[in-house]
Amino acid sequence: MAREAEALVERLEAVRDRIKAAARRAGRDPCDVTLVAVSKTHPAASIVEALDAGQRCFGENRVQEALQKFPELRESQPDFELHLIGPLQSNKAAEAVAHFDVIQTVDREKIARALAKEMDKQGRRPACFLQVNTGEEPQKAGVVPGEVEALVTLCRSLDLPLRGFMCIPPQGEPPAPHFALLRKLAARYDLPLLSMGMSGDYETAVELGATHVRVGTAIFGERPYPAGASASTSTASPG
Ligand SMILES: *Cc1c(COP(=O)(O)O)cnc(C)c1O
Repeated sequence: MAREAEALVERLEAVRDRIKAAARRAGRDPCDVTLVAVSKTHPAASIVEALDAGQRCFGENRVQEALQKFPELRESQPDFELHLIGPLQSNKAAEAVAHFDVIQTVDREKIARALAKEMDKQGRRPACFLQVNTGEEPQKAGVVPGEVEALVTLCRSLDLPLRGFMCIPPQGEPPAPHFALLRKLAARYDLPLLSMGMSGDYETAVELGATHVRVGTAIFGERPYPAGASASTSTASPG
């Protein structure tokens, strides 16, 4: 095995071990936590290395970039899940429904309606999460906590397969209160899945109930270039 692939496998195993340890500390079954390997900006070759190491769940934040990498991989490796974790424009709803297994970033009425329409049309029903802007940051994607109820009600009336919530805590703040808030909201609306935690804080997230952690850098290494301009509105501060 090439040295780079070896390093990736080691990092992947280290992340898995840390997830297991965090789950055990919290008295949880490690099997209840899905590791979403965030492969944005990384080449298909790195994704193949992760697939060869048994990784079966990937996250991308841009529809277009995912379409450049994943359909080809599906031909040889059909049994993996692809999650959309970046902002979705309604004109990409058709592609999102066709190519993703989970859409984590439903955050407004227009997107909910566009997805519901496409799901009816295509007969394909990827699980959906609502992205919640727990820090109520003005520039950030996500529905603010006070508007969650209305959006949940709408999604249910549209028969969207709503399964959980996702959040990205504000940079530079302790993430735990945001994770705790997301968990409280999920319980209130009886949703089983919680996508929270990234490279810097996934262990905390697991301790606080995450069912999905989204880890990029700790698996694939530093990103070769910043994730697209559209990512800055959903993830960190711009720039
Ligand atoms: C890029 C990204 C991640 C992964 O971030 P790392 O810090 O590299 O682990 C997780 N979630 C979202 C929404 C992202 O855009």
